[in-house]
Amino acid sequence: RLVFLVYMFDIEAIGELLRHPHRILITTHQNPDADAMGSSLGLAGYLRQKGHSVLVITPTDYPQNLAWMPGNDEVLAFDEKQRTQVEALIAEADTIFCLDFSALDRIRDLGPMVRQARARKVMIDHHLEPENFADLAYWDTKAAATAQLIFKLIEQLGDGALIDADVAACLYAGLMTDTGSFRHSNTTPEVHRIAAALLERGIDVSQIHRLIFDGVSLDKLRLLGYILNEKLRVLPQYKFAYITLSVDELRRFRSRTGDTEGIVNYALSVEGVVAAAILIDRGEEIRLSFRSVGDFSVRDLVHTHFNGGGHKNAAGGRSRLSLADTEAKLLTILPEYQTELAGV
Ligand code: 5GP
Ligand code: MN
Repeated sequence: RLVFLVYMFDIEAIGELLRHPHRILITTHQNPDADAMGSSLGLAGYLRQKGHSVLVITPTDYPQNLAWMPGNDEVLAFDEKQRTQVEALIAEADTIFCLDFSALDRIRDLGPMVRQARARKVMIDHHLEPENFADLAYWDTKAAATAQLIFKLIEQLGDGALIDADVAACLYAGLMTDTGSFRHSNTTPEVHRIAAALLERGIDVSQIHRLIFDGVSLDKLRLLGYILNEKLRVLPQYKFAYITLSVDELRRFRSRTGDTEGIVNYALSVEGVVAAAILIDRGEEIRLSFRSVGDFSVRDLVHTHFNGGGHKNAAGGRSRLSLADTEAKLLTILPEYQTELAGV
């Protein structure tokens, strides 16, 4: 198997670019998670202190449990009604930061707008699947989180002192969630050193954890109960477990953005299971979310069969087949991986 690591650090050029105040847009991937929002708002807070005019635009809305982050009031979540306004903002920006994604098909309708924009584009990311649309990059596929890269970039630009408690809270949220609360294999000594540095800025880690993980709606808990009782399928011969969710089921539990986040981890937590998936019918397409432990690469599986990517132990993709046909396809490809799964 081809294993390639990518890194690119255009620090001096990024510093040069930021020397004079100008109009900066920050965008991140669709259905933003805590790393997407945390790295975007952390960078925005820093750049505002440097005198830039900064706006964060997300391609879709994002879950309520991320709305506490400092700077949230200045986020514009794209929807069709603001198309003209957003097109103008993107066309007029001097610099566009693209955070936590590395291919423009991850930002939906914003993709073509960003591609055509005259702005200098800076990608800061830790995913594979490079598309080379950016002029500059701060990119490391070994980083646990984009928030980690934002922290390092600010420090390397000589501005570590500008990481105040607000910026630190945003970055900590991204670092904490992308490492699964500091338990995934991407939790390196550097991750803990950065977490420690963020704590020294006076953040309340217990409060951040509660804001993100507690305050779960009753609807979401009931959906989880239903899934665990009736929808979780375990295939011991493949050490694999998966869940499917139809449009109808999502409607029945009044599911909102983010309500299905993290549910795949319950499938992965089943005794003996080394890889897991959740297949969700989003109407226009089926979204697939994969997780694994150890050396089994769900990124390779998704990349080969489900039009997506991500990381070795966490990847996502999509399918244009029906939910039933996507499930059938998954079941036909599993034997291909049986030997590899057995070895984990
Ligand atoms: P999730 O399953 O939480 O949506 O995503 C897991 C990981 O895979 C994340 O790092 C996410 O950015 C990445 N990912 C999810 N969907 C896609 C996709 O369609 N394409 C690519 N390239 N990466 C994805
Ligand atoms: Mn991330």
